Amino acid sequence: TPATELIVRNITERKEVERTLREAKEAADSANRAKSQFLATMSHELRTPLTSIIGYAELLNRALTPIANDEVMHDLRRIQVAGAHLLAIINDVLDLSKIEAGHMQVHPAPVRLDKLVQAVVDTVQPVIVRNTNQLLVQGLDDAGLMVTDEVHVRQILLNLLSNAGKFTTNGQITLRISGTPEMVYFAVHDTGIGIHPEQAKQLFRDFVQVDASTTRKYGGTGLGLALSRRLARLLGGDITLESALGEGSTFTLSLPRTMALAEGDVAMPSGE
Ligand code: ADP
Repeated sequence: TPATELIVRNITERKEVERTLREAKEAADSANRAKSQFLATMSHELRTPLTSIIGYAELLNRALTPIANDEVMHDLRRIQVAGAHLLAIINDVLDLSKIEAGHMQVHPAPVRLDKLVQAVVDTVQPVIVRNTNQLLVQGLDDAGLMVTDEVHVRQILLNLLSNAGKFTTNGQITLRISGTPEMVYFAVHDTGIGIHPEQAKQLFRDFVQVDASTTRKYGGTGLGLALSRRLARLLGGDITLESALGEGSTFTLSLPRTMALAEGDVAMPSGE
C-alpha cells in the first residue's frame, strides 16, 4: 500500500542520514587524530635542533662573557631568551597534542600532599619573589594523601602559581589546600591585576592571552591554562576561576582524592 511504501521510504531516508552523519563523524575524528599526530611528531622533531641552538648559545655566552662588549652579550642573551620561549611553546604543544591523541600517560600512585606542595613551592618561589610578592600556604597539616599522577599535578600547580606570581606585584599569593574524603581542592589566590569576566572563559582556550604584549614581557605561551585544564580533566578533575578586575583571581584545581582509572587504562605494576 502507499502508506507502507511511505514508511519504508522514511526509514530508508533516515538510515541514509544516519549513515552520512556517522561517516562525517568518523572522518572528523580521523582528521583530528591525524592533526594531533602531526603536531606531536613535528614538535618532537623541532626539539632536537632547538636544544642544540640553546646549548650552543649557552656555550658562547660562557666563552664570550670575559671578552665581548655589552652589545654582543645583549644580543646573545636575546637568542637565549627567544630559544627558551620557543622551547616552552613546543613543549606545551607536544603535551596538548599528546592529550588530544589520547597518548598522554597517566600513572596514579599514592602521593603525600605536604611533600608535593613543598616541591612545587620550592620551584616557583623565584617567580613569586621577583615581583616582591609573599607566598602563603594553608591547610597542609592535615592534607593527607591522595592517589593521582604527581607529575601532572605538579605541572598544573606550577602553572597556576607562576601565573599568580607573574600577574601580581607587591601582593599576596595564597595556596590553600582543603578536601573531603572524595575530593582535594587546591585554591591559588592572588591579589593581582584580576581578569575581566568576559575574558575569563576564553583564557582556557589555546594561545589566548588577555594582553598580547604580556607575551613579550613575561615570556608566556598562552597555552598554560589550556594545558592545565586538559591535564586536570585527564585526572578526573577540573579547574575553575573566580576573579574581579583589579582585585585578584582565584584558580581552583579540584581533583578526586583517588583517581579512577579510565576504561581501557591499564594499571602498571610498579617498576614498569
Ligand atoms: P601564559 O603563558 O600567557 O601565562 P596561560 O594560559 O597560563 O598563558 O594564561 C593565559 C592568560 O591568562 C595570561 O596571558 C593572562 O592574560 C591571563 N592570566 C592567567 N593567570 C592570571 C592571573 N593569576 N591573574 C591575571 N591574569 C591571568
